[in-house]
Amino acid sequence: MSVPILVITNSFIPEYLFTELKKRGSLKLKRDLSPEEFEKAKQEAEIIIASGGSKFKKEDYDSCPNLKLITDFGVGYDGIDINEANLHQVLVSHTPNVLNDDVADLALAHTLNITRNLVNSHNYAKAGIWEQEGAFPLATNCHHQKVGLVGLGRIGLEIAHRAEAFKMKVSYYARHPKDVPYCYYDNLEEMAKNVEILILAIPASKETFHLIDKKILKALGPQGFLINIARGSIVNTEDLIYALEHKEIKGAALDVFEHEPHIEEALRKLDNVILSPHIGSATESTRLAMANLVLANVDAYLKGESLVTQVKENKF
Ligand code: NAP
Repeated sequence: MSVPILVITNSFIPEYLFTELKKRGSLKLKRDLSPEEFEKAKQEAEIIIASGGSKFKKEDYDSCPNLKLITDFGVGYDGIDINEANLHQVLVSHTPNVLNDDVADLALAHTLNITRNLVNSHNYAKAGIWEQEGAFPLATNCHHQKVGLVGLGRIGLEIAHRAEAFKMKVSYYARHPKDVPYCYYDNLEEMAKNVEILILAIPASKETFHLIDKKILKALGPQGFLINIARGSIVNTEDLIYALEHKEIKGAALDVFEHEPHIEEALRKLDNVILSPHIGSATESTRLAMANLVLANVDAYLKGESLVTQVKENKF
C-alpha cells in the first residue's frame, strides 16, 4: 500500500519536492483540501511535511493516529511539540546546516542596510529628493563596530565569520562558552551594554521567549541596532516598538515577527526599521538543498534506517 504523505505547511517549497514525494507515496497538500478532507488526511497520514512555522501540538498528534514521521522543512522546530512526538513514538527530522550561509548572508545584509540607512537613501534617490533637497544625512559605519551575537551555533558562527570580514569585533552570548576566538558573555545585559549591534541567532523556546525586552534594549542604547533573523517570539515587540519610537535604540532590522505574517502597524510605519518577510533561507538553491534533505530523511525512514538529521531531543 502506498504510504500516505501529508504536507501541512504553506511555506515556499519547490515543486520538485512534491514531484519526488509522489514517487514515494500518496501525496496530499493541506492547501488543496477542504477542512473535512484535511481531517481525513490527518487520520491516514504516516508522514507529515511541516515547516519552521508549523504548529504541531498534543491535539494534532491525537488526530493523527497513524503518524510515524514529521519532517520539518526548516531548521527551527519550535512549533513542533517534541515531548509529544516522543510520547507518541513519532520520529522528527529537520534541515540544519544547508541554510546557514543564506541566513548569515541575510543577517549581514540587514546589518549593512540598517547601519548605512540604505533603504531610506534608496527611497531618497528614487523619489528625486536628492535633486531638490541636497545631500542625504550621514549614517553609521558598519565596519569596526562591536557586534554581539545572541547564540553562536551553526548560523551564529557563519554570521561571526562574515562580521570579522567586515572588521567588526565579535562577542557572543550562549549557555556555554565555545572554542572560538570571540569574547564570551554569560550575561546578555552585560554584552548588550558593550556592543553597538545585537544579532539574534538563537532558537525560540520557553527560555528564550521575550529574551530581548526593555532592559536589554536600554542596555543596547541610543547608538545600538537590533537584527533579528531568528524568531519573532524572542523579542518583546511592544518593548521594541517603544524603544524605536523613543530612540532608545537607533534602529532594527527584522526578518521574523511575533505574530507573522502579521506585522504590527507601528513597526511598518517607523523609518528606523527594515523589514523582510521571513526570507532567511528563501533562495532557489537553498530551498532545493532543504528539499533534498527532507527526501533523504523520508528515504531513511522508508528503508527502516536512522534519520539523517533527526531533531536532537527526539528520543524514545
Ligand atoms: P543552533 O546551531 O542550535 O544554535 C543555537 C545557539 O543558541 C547555540 O549557540 C546555543 O548555544 C544557543 N542557545 C540555545 N538556547 C539558548 C538559551 N536558552 N540561552 C542562551 N543560548 C541558547 O541553531 P542554528 O541552526 O544556528 O539556528 C538558530 C535559529 O535560527 C533556529 O532555531 C531558527 O529559529 C532560526 N532560523 C531562522 C531562519 C530565517 O528564515 N530567518 C532560517 C533558519 C533558522 P548553547 O547551547 O551553548 O546555549
